[in-house]
Amino acid sequence: MSVPFVNIHTHTATGEGVELVNIDKFDVTPNGMFASAGLHPWNVGKCDHLQTLETIGEWCRRGIVAAVGEIGLDRSIETSIEAQKSLLVSQLEIARKFQMPTIIHCVRAYSDFLQIMRQNPHVPMIFHGFSGNITTAEQLLAHGATLSFGHKLLSESKLWEVFASIPNDCIFLETDTKNLHIGDIYTFAAELKHISLEELKHIIFNNLTRVFGNRWETIG
Ligand SMILES: [Zn+2]
Repeated sequence: MSVPFVNIHTHTATGEGVELVNIDKFDVTPNGMFASAGLHPWNVGKCDHLQTLETIGEWCRRGIVAAVGEIGLDRSIETSIEAQKSLLVSQLEIARKFQMPTIIHCVRAYSDFLQIMRQNPHVPMIFHGFSGNITTAEQLLAHGATLSFGHKLLSESKLWEVFASIPNDCIFLETDTKNLHIGDIYTFAAELKHISLEELKHIIFNNLTRVFGNRWETIG
């Protein structure tokens, strides 16, 4: 049986395989999509936080979204890390309450996350656009995280060994904001893993169903 490609993080639906589409506008309720919604650290202070958190919780409760995200911490921006952490923790609490996985944006904040993961052991976290080293990868995996790789995998050779060495049941692939075909990332990734494209499709599809259950097919 052939299984579809899985694009675990994109901002635009393209119709290629199963796509988890990230929603960051809260004025229109998404309809019939496999979607994630979250208050991104870049938007801290730019919206009504309480109202946004309420909407995210409501969409989780009604099964309108299948994940909370992207949410996270970014130490490359001006926004205070304490303000970011407070919003992150609130959203992890929503995810825990509704048993949703999370899509994590993490820039220069892996050590913050290791601590947060210890305090929130029951929330599945998918670190999107992972570009850290093998030590960081292993630390995150030890806390039950999965790692998603995108366009950087194609160009940053330091990631190749990291990707090749982490266990198959911990990986996802994504296009994020890039105008790429998910199939092209798969083809490249399968070569790094020394497996066939079809094998990689099965591995990642299994990861999808393990983390999301059947939510990817029941939305809509
Ligand atoms: Zn993104």
